[in-house]
Amino acid sequence: MNEEISTLKELQELVLIRDEYFQTGDGDRMDEFNAKIENLKSKLGPQARTIFNRLYQRNHVAVAGITNNCCAACGMTVPVANVQMARVGERIVCCASCGRILYAADEETVSNVKGKVDQDGKVGLERFSSVKLVMPDLKAKDRVGAIGELAELLETNDCIDSADNVVAAAMAREEILSTATDNDVAFPHVRGVEGGGLTIAVGVSKKGIDWGGVKVHIVFLSMIPVAVSAYYLRFMGAVTKSFCKPNVRELVIAAQDEANLWRLVQKHTRTELK
Ligand SMILES: [Zn+2]
Repeated sequence: MNEEISTLKELQELVLIRDEYFQTGDGDRMDEFNAKIENLKSKLGPQARTIFNRLYQRNHVAVAGITNNCCAACGMTVPVANVQMARVGERIVCCASCGRILYAADEETVSNVKGKVDQDGKVGLERFSSVKLVMPDLKAKDRVGAIGELAELLETNDCIDSADNVVAAAMAREEILSTATDNDVAFPHVRGVEGGGLTIAVGVSKKGIDWGGVKVHIVFLSMIPVAVSAYYLRFMGAVTKSFCKPNVRELVIAAQDEANLWRLVQKHTRTELK
């Protein structure tokens, strides 16, 4: 792939990681992230930098993959000639509808095989998860194991096509910045999982998991389509707020079975997850 498109993808991911950190972190590392973002921008040619900056002013999702010949951000069909051009990667191709910079997403490694879930009448966490996607007693002691258990659950329930690829992609994201928060919750995720909606598996460890040096007990593993990247930031903020009370965390961690855990997680995130 064209080096500039790679830089744009990297830049996009870093912007969203910084925004995620802003939602859940203490703000100490914002300057560091902003410096890294500026450094990446300086590697772009003048045309790409101008287009990126213009899009970024409007929305922090400025770069999107093409999935099934559609822009992953706005859903509009991309003309075949432009799909081909994006694949060749010699010049920048923008979506005719939303203006975002497009890249060929053929090589993306995870897709949602369930398709869109009917959300009618559903509220809160129910829109993205279910009693089938919770684990009240994760066995893993480290993050790669915990992500693996939850990814297997997503695969067993036909939500994704490959648990192994989810683990690899989620761990690559963890390497850039750990998704553990100060509130005993970790938010591992894979972005660019197209074909369905935001899909989330929730796990609890009774003994705690070593999340890159920090101990966490509650894990939300999310599969994020590009179009809901902005919503996912609000989701993280809302869940972090829901779990800031130690007594709520204790109740959830003590859940005895799937039904109990599902009921508790739904109940305690309902106020924030409108
Ligand atoms: Zn678009």
